[in-house]
Amino acid sequence: MDCRDAYLKTEALAKTFSDGALAAVRRISLEIRRSEIFCLLGPSGCGKTTTLRLLAGFEKPDAGKIFLEGKDITDSPPEARNIGIVFQDYALFPHLNVLENIAFALWSHPRKARKAMAKDFLEMVGLSDFASYMPHEISGGQQQRAALARALAAEPKILLLDEPFSGLDTRLRQSVREETRNLLRERGTTCILVTHDQEEAMSFADRIALMNEGLIEQTGVPEDVYAAPSNPFVAQFLGRTNLIEGLANGLNADTPIGIIPIDKSTSGHVLLSLRPEHIVLEPANSSQQSGILVRREFKGHDMTHWVKFGDTDIQVDTDFTCTFDAGTPVLLRIRKAATVLSRTEP
Ligand code: ADP
Ligand code: MG
Repeated sequence: MDCRDAYLKTEALAKTFSDGALAAVRRISLEIRRSEIFCLLGPSGCGKTTTLRLLAGFEKPDAGKIFLEGKDITDSPPEARNIGIVFQDYALFPHLNVLENIAFALWSHPRKARKAMAKDFLEMVGLSDFASYMPHEISGGQQQRAALARALAAEPKILLLDEPFSGLDTRLRQSVREETRNLLRERGTTCILVTHDQEEAMSFADRIALMNEGLIEQTGVPEDVYAAPSNPFVAQFLGRTNLIEGLANGLNADTPIGIIPIDKSTSGHVLLSLRPEHIVLEPANSSQQSGILVRREFKGHDMTHWVKFGDTDIQVDTDFTCTFDAGTPVLLRIRKAATVLSRTEP
């Protein structure tokens, strides 16, 4: 990305807590565009919350810089940054009702106008009927929507969402997530969502950054990162995959499952990622290199099969038409070239 496009930019942010043995954040460089919905995805403890707290100004980085609209805000106090943040636990003021919670964020507007404005924000998140309720009198999903309305009412330059949906049950999570995304889009709000849920990240974000141990491993459009993970961590964290060793020769590699196509021409030892849905199971005849179907798992919408080739176990996803039973010899047909992974650190 051309850095002139960057609305929020960080350069090699680093943070080690005084009582921490390891750095929480080692080198985080991000460039986020105006109105972009960006997602930081990574396992628990990889430094996502610390990154957001650095952006919001609640923590001071040991090294690195933060720019918002080209202005260096690294040393600005939180209240001067105009960056909003919503946490997993909603954090509404318990002693104020829902409307008052929203009105609180409108302190910079004339007192008389606040109530009407707060009502507009409540309507926007579908909570008009709950204006006079106290936070403990509404459901988790409603509290989260109220927290979002309060954050939006402050008209932040950028909104940071720290696992805001993870406290909600599956079905509610999906609908609140969708409503939130629509709202951000309509308003053109620039947003960074933090999550450890890969499905949430892929469906919510314009671009995602995969984080691991305080570093960003790969950034890109979800489809692109899924299709071409750059290393084993990304391949395994974003979706499921088979990691296979092989000996490359041009656009093919010799592997324990046979000679398979690979996505770039190379030679020598390679580590490959082959997605379970990119393989088709076929009946084996004795003259071919076959594996044994050892186990199958029925999941309703699809099935996962485990096929053994010597010491190598391969997962294959199929639809309901696949009727091979455990113990059957099978062949693998590869529908999409395996991705050659890098073994080095980013
Ligand atoms: P995530 O949000 O991805 O789960 P965090 O940013 O919360 O990760 O934490 C990253 C690492 O920093 C973890 O090892 C965590 O224990 C440590 N950490 C986070 N906050 C503090 C703190 N205030 N003091 C000491 N260590 C911390
Ligand atoms: Mg966290």
